[in-house]
Amino acid sequence: MNIPGPVEMILKLLEAHGHAAHCVGGCVRDPLLGRTPEDWDVATSALPEETLAVFPGRAFPTGLRHGTVTVREGSYSVEVTTFRTDGPYADSRHPDSVTFTRSLRDDLSRRDFTVNAMAVDLRGELTDPFGGQADLKAQVLRCVGDPEERFGEDALRILRCLRFSATLGFSVEAETARGLRDCKGLLSNIAAERVRSELTKLLCGKAAAEVLREYPEVVGAVLPEILPMVGFEQHSRYHCYDVWEHTLHALAAAPQEPVLRWAVLLHDVGKPCCFTRDERGGHFYGHPAVSAEIADAVLRRLKFDNATRDAVTTLVAWHDREIPRTEKGVRRALMKLGEERMRQLTEVKRADNLGQAPELRSRLREVERGAEILDALLARDACFSLKQLAVNGRDLMELGLRGPEIGAALDRLISAVVDGELPNEKSALLCAERARKFAETPEEQRI
Ligand code: ATP
Ligand code: MG
Repeated sequence: MNIPGPVEMILKLLEAHGHAAHCVGGCVRDPLLGRTPEDWDVATSALPEETLAVFPGRAFPTGLRHGTVTVREGSYSVEVTTFRTDGPYADSRHPDSVTFTRSLRDDLSRRDFTVNAMAVDLRGELTDPFGGQADLKAQVLRCVGDPEERFGEDALRILRCLRFSATLGFSVEAETARGLRDCKGLLSNIAAERVRSELTKLLCGKAAAEVLREYPEVVGAVLPEILPMVGFEQHSRYHCYDVWEHTLHALAAAPQEPVLRWAVLLHDVGKPCCFTRDERGGHFYGHPAVSAEIADAVLRRLKFDNATRDAVTTLVAWHDREIPRTEKGVRRALMKLGEERMRQLTEVKRADNLGQAPELRSRLREVERGAEILDALLARDACFSLKQLAVNGRDLMELGLRGPEIGAALDRLISAVVDGELPNEKSALLCAERARKFAETPEEQRI
């Protein structure tokens, strides 16, 4: 395994001072899978104050209560944590106390899954007391110890398990899977921010759809809004899947990016409560707006930032609108949504269509046609926002316009340019405004 130079240096210095030091967790797991680790974590027999003394001036006590010291080495910030065992957990979240230990094995036994409970030292020697390597090979997630006990200690592990299953494409060992289901109620103890982070990683995983299909009730413990979709028949010749199955197919077809995956997960979440039926079949009138409302409530509860919430709810609200297939239509949509959101909307609509059975993908050609026009317009640097308009407020003031007149004139001009009625050229635009002003001035006042 290739340990980066700065991490190697940290291990060397700790050893030189007589301490044991190992890379642990994800940075052992990921390289064994041929993946690049997110971050490098070091576990050591050194007590926090001993670690601080080994790295004077570049070690910071970032989590002393849990034995964590952050060490800066080159461009790296590495968390160096004292071997520890956790005391009892009264709240399914935090250990009541932690005890430092000089034993690596004890430290590994407090970790969540066997594949996360391996350590490697400077010389590349692997410590793997719980069969992590075998489970990596078999692509299995298995709790270290008794699943129910481990999920009971810290319910976040339930979501971590589903997240790793989604991102790595691993299956969940049977006892561990039972533990997930039996302990899901404890998820209500977990802070919204932590739920948000795990759910987002889960949704962006390559196997997100499979995980959601297998564990809807577990995810539903933190996202109850999805549950009415499960098994909800659409009674429509345009759909061969129920709402949930369609959502999962669409999710699998969407790019692995947070805004898009959240938007696709929630795009039809309002369908069950909009359902009506007549002789022509099932209908879901108004479902995009209802879905957007539900999405807004979900994202608020999970304490998402405003920009993400705004993006996701806009995409959900727009997902069912017909994609414009004329240049004028695309320009108008661009004026309302802007380039980024339009591109995202194309992705959501593409996924929505791909989420239908192949013979029912009726609108895919329309989506692709709209995407082509969008690309062509953007490549041409076409004007669709005030920022790009060839005149600004100051130009109009020079023309003698004042206050609200200016805003109104800008609106008029951008609409005319977007609709192709005027070229986006300063002289032409000012000329048009001058002519309009002239026409509106009573004859006796004209100079
Ligand atoms: P990634 O960094 O890719 O998200 P990771 O496995 O490295 O995955 P971290 O959150 O960085 O996850 O944690 C590092 C290690 O700490 C884990 O591999 C695991 O051994 C242990 N760990 C983290 N969170 C928990 C937890 N809630 N319960 C038990 N062990 C945990
Ligand atoms: Mg990590």
